Amino acid sequence: MYDHVFRAGAIGTMRLPHRIVMGAMHLNLETGDDDGAALAAFYAERAAAGAALIVTGGVAVNAVGAGGPGYGVIGDSRDRTALSAAVRAVHEHGGRIALQLFHAGRYARPGAREGAGHPVAPSPVHSAFARCTPRVMSPRDITTTIDDFAEGARAARALGFDAVEVMGSEGYLINQFTAPLTNLREDAWGGDAERRRRFPLEVLRGVRAAVGRDFPVLFRISGNDLVAGGTPPDEVTALTVALAGAGADALSVGVGWHESPVPTVQSEVPAGTWAACAKALKRTLLAAGHTDVAVIAANRFPHLAQADEALSGGEVDFVAMARPFLADPQLVAKSAAGHPDRVNACIACNEACIDRSFGTERVSCLVNPRAGHERQFPPPQPARHHSGPFGRYAVIGAGIAGLEAARTLAGLGHRVEVYEAAAHAGGQFRLASQVPGKAEFAGTIHHHVRELRDAGVPLHLGRRIGGADVPELRSFDGVVLATGVLPAGLSLSGAELPHVRNYAQAFADPEALGDRIVIIGGGGIAIDLAHTLTTDPDAEVTPEEFLARHAVAGSTPHSGREPAVRDAPREVTLLRRGRRIGAGIGPSTRWVVMRNLRAAGVRMLTGVTYREITPTGVLLTDAEGTERSLDADHVVLAVGQVPVDELAPLLREAGVPVVTAGGAAGTDGLNAVRATAEGLRAAHRI
Ligand code: SF4
Repeated sequence: MYDHVFRAGAIGTMRLPHRIVMGAMHLNLETGDDDGAALAAFYAERAAAGAALIVTGGVAVNAVGAGGPGYGVIGDSRDRTALSAAVRAVHEHGGRIALQLFHAGRYARPGAREGAGHPVAPSPVHSAFARCTPRVMSPRDITTTIDDFAEGARAARALGFDAVEVMGSEGYLINQFTAPLTNLREDAWGGDAERRRRFPLEVLRGVRAAVGRDFPVLFRISGNDLVAGGTPPDEVTALTVALAGAGADALSVGVGWHESPVPTVQSEVPAGTWAACAKALKRTLLAAGHTDVAVIAANRFPHLAQADEALSGGEVDFVAMARPFLADPQLVAKSAAGHPDRVNACIACNEACIDRSFGTERVSCLVNPRAGHERQFPPPQPARHHSGPFGRYAVIGAGIAGLEAARTLAGLGHRVEVYEAAAHAGGQFRLASQVPGKAEFAGTIHHHVRELRDAGVPLHLGRRIGGADVPELRSFDGVVLATGVLPAGLSLSGAELPHVRNYAQAFADPEALGDRIVIIGGGGIAIDLAHTLTTDPDAEVTPEEFLARHAVAGSTPHSGREPAVRDAPREVTLLRRGRRIGAGIGPSTRWVVMRNLRAAGVRMLTGVTYREITPTGVLLTDAEGTERSLDADHVVLAVGQVPVDELAPLLREAGVPVVTAGGAAGTDGLNAVRATAEGLRAAHRI
C-alpha cells in the first residue's frame, strides 16, 4: 500500500525513509515561557510516529521579519533555547528537523517583536493583511537581511538542525522581491526580471556559503502567486533553474498569497489541486539538467492516498503535509501499518490552526484538540498500557463534544458508555457534513465512532436519557454531559406559521423547501444553509474544473477575477440585524464563503429590523429605514441556539459527578473547536 510514499528518498546528503515531509506550520508555541517544552513535545510526538523530516514554522532571521509576537527570532537567545529543545526531542525520537528561515516583509505587524520597528519591504506597497504600508528597504537593509539569512542558517546548523528551508513563497519578503506587484524598484534589486530574482538568489548563495555544501538546503518557491501582478510564469521558470544552479537541494512548491482571490487551502479546494504547479517545476528542472534537485509538492493533500498518487508518476519527489499532522500525529505510522482508514483526517476547516496562527492563540486542531497541548494531555493508549485506577463513565450525547470526551476517556483506559438520543452520532457536526465542500466532516464522525467501537465502547443510539434515568446513572463514577443544543426560536409575529422552519428542519429536508427562501440570521449556520440551498449537492469539482473556474491555468498567474454569478437552484435571501454577515467565521475562510454566496446570487441584507413573518414572506425595515416586504415560499430561522442542559442539576442533586461540554455548557462563542476542546478537557476533569 502506498508504494510511492513508502520509498526511501534523499534531499541533498539527507536520506529519508519515505516521501512525506511535515510542512512548516506556525504554532504560537515558539515563544512560550517554558524553554520550548511545549514545542518540543509537539514535534517529538510527530517524530516518534514517523514524520521523517519536520520543517519548523517560520523563524524570523531578524526582529523586523517576525510575522507576529508569537514568531521566534533566530538571534534571540530565549527562542534559540526553545529551538534547541525541539531539535533534541526530534532526534531522541529518531526524526530529522529543518529550520525554516523566514522574513515576513510587508506581512509583518508593526512592532510585533521587541526592537522590530516598522515593517520593511522592497517597495511601499500597502498590505491589507498587516494593515500598514512598509518602509522601503535601502540597499544596505537588503544586504544586511541577506547576511541575516546566512547567519540564521549558520545558527541552525550549530543548534543541531538537519537542514534549513528558506521561505520564499506565500507572499513573504523574498516573494515580494520577485513579484512586480510589490517590487517597484528601479535599482539593482528590481526593475526587470533578472534584478527581481537577485534577492532570492543572493539569499540562497549566502545560506549555502554559511552552511557548506554538505548541509541540506530547501527553498520554498512560489509556483503561482495567484495575485494579479504576481511573479510572471517565465520568471518562475527562470528562478527555478537559477535556484537549482545556486545550490538548492530541494524546491518546496507553495502557491498563493494572503490577498489571493483564489482559495488554496480551504475545504472547497479539491485534494491534490496544486500538485500541477510542483510537477511543472520538476519538468523545468529536468529539462535544464538538474536531476538531483528534489521537488516537494504541497497544499491540500489531506490523505496519504493523494500524496501517493502525486508521487506515482515520478513527477514530484516528496509531498509536504502540514495540517494532517496536527489532526493525527500518527498519520504516517498508521498508514505504514496498513491502517490508513484509522487516520483522523484533517477536514481543512482552518478554525483552530491557520486562523489562530494569524493571532497569538496557541494553534490546535478541531478534530484533535490535544494538538499543541501534548504535555497537558497524554496520548491515548490501549487499555492494557494503563495502570489505573480506572473508572466507569457515561457520556450523554454523541455530538462532536461527546465523541471527543468518550474517545479520550477510553484512551485513558476507563470504561465508557455513550448515550445518544438521535439515530446517528454527530449532532450539529453532522449537519455541517451536508454542506457542499464539507463532506469530509462526516469522516471525523466515522473516525471517532470507529475508534469507540475498536475500544469496545458501547454507543447506545436512539436512547434519550431523561430525569427518570438519573438513579441508574448513579452507578457511574461520573457523567460527561454533552447533550448539545436546540435551534432557538424567534419572538416575532408569524413565527408559528406553517411555512416557517428552523435550521435543523431545513437541513433535514432541504428538498421540501420552495424556490424562494428567506433565512433570518447571518451566522455560520445560516451561511452554510444558504450555500447548501444554492449548490448542487452532487456536483463534484475536479482539480481541473476548480482551476478553470478560478481562471488559473497550470502554473500561470490568473486574472484574479471573481467567479461569475451562476444559475442557482433557488433564490435565497439572508437577513441580519447586525452589520456583518458571517462575523464568527475565521478570516481564512470567511472571504471564500462570502464569495460563494455572491456567486450564487444570494441576497444579503444587514442592519434590518424584523416586523412580521407573513403567509407570503417577511416584512422588515431595512438599514435605510424603509419598510420592505420580501416574498418567500419558506422562511428559515437560524437565530442561534439554546443549550440542552436540564440533566445537569438533576445529576448534581443526585450526587453524580458531572462535567458539561459543548453546547450543553453554554452557547456563547459555541463552535466545533470549542466543543471538541471541552470534550477533551471534560474527560480529563471528570
Ligand atoms: Fe485541519 Fe481543521 Fe485541524 Fe486545522 S483545525 S488541522 S484545518 S482539521
